[in-house]
Amino acid sequence: MSSTERKSADRSKPLFLGNQLALDFLNTRPLMAGQLTELLPDFAALLRWFQEADLLNSREAAALGRKWAGSPRARQVTEAMRQWRERLRKQILAWERGDSLRRSILDELNTLMAAHPMRTRIRTKGKGYLKELWFEPCVPEDLLAPLAQSAASLFADLDRKRVRKCPTCVLHFYDTSKKGTRRWCSMHLCGNRLKVAAYAARRRKFTHRGWLPGGLPSRPTSTNAIRSE
Ligand SMILES: [Zn+2]
Repeated sequence: MSSTERKSADRSKPLFLGNQLALDFLNTRPLMAGQLTELLPDFAALLRWFQEADLLNSREAAALGRKWAGSPRARQVTEAMRQWRERLRKQILAWERGDSLRRSILDELNTLMAAHPMRTRIRTKGKGYLKELWFEPCVPEDLLAPLAQSAASLFADLDRKRVRKCPTCVLHFYDTSKKGTRRWCSMHLCGNRLKVAAYAARRRKFTHRGWLPGGLPSRPTSTNAIRSE
């Protein structure tokens, strides 16, 4: 099965902007047109997401689909994963605010990692060698392996101050920017919208006061014209 050692998600794929697998998993219930939208409604969607996250290749995802799709067990696992995602969301929100993790989530993570472990292997890469994590889904529940592992890594290995929720939507991300000043999930989704709203508010204020010397601040016109945070 595929390596799960991804440094960062492919930003060209929608909603893989968390820079961390557990956060990308959390982001599978985004706001779309103002509505919370479930991106993992069934097992087929779950396999598609695993493929998009580079946890399975297309051949592996198709094989698992043929083996398990439509089975009651696959349905139960998909539902259990969605429920686990929401328990994890509560913990991550509290942890981002500075709270300690609840004993129950640590116990749950340890139980999941013991039941569905990641494995380690070494392979050649160019003239050197690469150590990588991998997993082999023998039962549908084993799909939890990379998610539990990445949740444990999130809490244990990352700088909590750089893990944030976007202030204007429900998406979380790990800020890997040099200065650590990333504010939004993405400039395109939220940053630009907020800047345009701020401009409109300033403009209303200036107009009401009849304040014009020096002119109005230049209007943000496109995403490209605005410096990325
Ligand atoms: Zn956002």
